[in-house]
Amino acid sequence: MAAGRAAELGATVLLLEKMGRVGIKLALTGKGRCNLTNGGDLQSFIENYRHNGKFLHNVFSRFFNQDLISFFHKRGLPTVEERGKRVFPASNRAQDVVRVLKEYCASLGVKTLLHTDARAILQENGRVVGVRTDPGTLLASRVILATGGASYSQTGSTGDGYRMAQELGHTLMPIRPSLVPLEAEEGYIRDLQGLSLKNVRATLLSSGRKVEEEFGEMLFTHFGISGPIVLTLSGPAVEEFPRGRVELSIDFKPALTHERVNQRLLREFQAGGRKKIRNIMANLLPQRMVPVFLQRGEVPPEKKGAEIQAGTRRRMVDLLKDWRLTLRRARPLMEAIVTAGGVSVKEIQPSTMESRIVRGLHFCGEVMDIDGKTGGYNLQAAFSTGWAAGEATAKSG
Ligand SMILES: Cc1cc2nc3c(=O)[nH]c(=O)nc-3n(C[C@H](O)[C@H](O)[C@H](O)COP(=O)(O)OP(=O)(O)OC[C@H]3O[C@@H](n4cnc5c(N)ncnc54)[C@H](O)[C@@H]3O)c2cc1C
Repeated sequence: MAAGRAAELGATVLLLEKMGRVGIKLALTGKGRCNLTNGGDLQSFIENYRHNGKFLHNVFSRFFNQDLISFFHKRGLPTVEERGKRVFPASNRAQDVVRVLKEYCASLGVKTLLHTDARAILQENGRVVGVRTDPGTLLASRVILATGGASYSQTGSTGDGYRMAQELGHTLMPIRPSLVPLEAEEGYIRDLQGLSLKNVRATLLSSGRKVEEEFGEMLFTHFGISGPIVLTLSGPAVEEFPRGRVELSIDFKPALTHERVNQRLLREFQAGGRKKIRNIMANLLPQRMVPVFLQRGEVPPEKKGAEIQAGTRRRMVDLLKDWRLTLRRARPLMEAIVTAGGVSVKEIQPSTMESRIVRGLHFCGEVMDIDGKTGGYNLQAAFSTGWAAGEATAKSG
């Protein structure tokens, strides 16, 4: 987007890509469907960044979600809006998003050098003069650093930009995984692998204190938990791990109070007085969860509904409303959807994306200290900042 926009406004642009193809990560996004933006308004958008959403206000007021959507519409790629206002290409193919961007660049004369690894940005007297690459040095009066984060490194995003920016005197906010699955201590997790829980409330606790909560869908994996609400809670979880004991409380019945759940159980146990408890509980929980639930509640699975005492029932209510998991750590950066941290936005001008330290150096995308939640926020930030950086480089000559 940055290269194309600069060329559109008359700049001579060389795009350096160290991989054999451009947009490898982009083609993976949204499980191959590319959730390219979100239909939310500016205010709600900005609230969906964990760090520095406000920094994006300036560029969003010039190139925002509807501009991005019409950018793709005009180039023959209609989009659809789904649950949570997530926007995808109507073709459901992330590869089409990559193709449109490649065509945009090519049609405007952007020259792309593949297999070209940028090693360092060269400066003289506080001004960019070129880039040292694998094959040799290239002279340039403006450079846009769009090297992405440091996760999913097989896509080419290996964090090189962090080092290059730091070498030029930029402050780097600590790099850490965000939107990442979490590991849990409980051994029974393995038995639940692949099970997804819908419409639950998950509350992140640090040393017993509530940090954040999310409502929606989560998934058990062989090591712990994942799925949309877990990914959203992972950013704060990563920050809490060094501070204390991190737990997740799952509320299986968020629409019902404790008392209502108690009444519901009473009704179920009365109606199914001669049924085994393991069969009754299948009305309230996913089938695969039932044996784990009964074991944890110390309820023999063969017990009949009518045999359940009030004390046991209360224990079951507590478990349905507050099922605790002890979280050990996040999965490694490699498995994170985004990298939190990066080049400090305090050192970047919010309208032009130009460095406040080295003139002629601009930034865009994930290399900056910006990380959004799931829902298209990370790509919109990358596209908008890319657009602004491209525009600024072309306008300043
Ligand atoms: C599995 C997955 C799914 C995702 N799904 C979504 C989604 O649906 N919606 C959403 O909003 N976000 C999603 N994201 C996040 C989103 O993909 C990123 O935030 C976004 O791609 C960042 O864009 P970028 O241009 O800054 O960097 P990148 O897309 O990472 O691109 C950086 C490019 O720079 C190249 N490069 C790096 N170093 C050098 C160098 N030294 N020399 C030359 N080239 C170099 C890389 O090869 C790469 O092509 C997802 C991420 C992952 C991993």
